[in-house]
Amino acid sequence: MSDVVNWIVVEPGFTKAGLNPFRVRSEIAKGINEWAKTLKGLVEFREGYTQRGCIAFQMSYGVINANADPDRVAQCDDFKNNWVITFLPHGAPANKVRPKQKWLLGWWQDTFGSGDSILAATIHEVGHVFDFKHPDEQDPPVFDPQHPMHSQFPDCRNIGRRYRQSLREEFIRRYP
Ligand SMILES: [Zn+2]
Repeated sequence: MSDVVNWIVVEPGFTKAGLNPFRVRSEIAKGINEWAKTLKGLVEFREGYTQRGCIAFQMSYGVINANADPDRVAQCDDFKNNWVITFLPHGAPANKVRPKQKWLLGWWQDTFGSGDSILAATIHEVGHVFDFKHPDEQDPPVFDPQHPMHSQFPDCRNIGRRYRQSLREEFIRRYP
């Protein structure tokens, strides 16, 4: 029997930032689906709120801990089996190099736009829900900039087949 993880999109922050909440939800759903494929038979994902085991996706000021990493644009916080994945607000000052955060929505923007993909960030942050660490910050570090869990996540729109198998095996090792 597989464990159930619920997920919801907390809409107000996305709407306030001028992002279409339906398109945001669609990209987040694609990211969730990448993990559903990777953890098939182990974890089942359902959209909707529950008090236990729910991932809430939000866009909010004042949550991102830039002290840990000045380039951070999203983060995952664990509140005892309830996770909150926060995106730095669209248009918010990001850092000196990149004065405004720009989120990309959909294949066209991800492919031709410049900024960070909501889908790629979703894939990366959901990985933290399952306690996957950044391979480049392990001991010894593994540098693979294409890895979805690389600290500077690539703008990937899927968990490639070569990563899916190893992430699945690592998950089974960790949660036997
Ligand atoms: Zn990370």
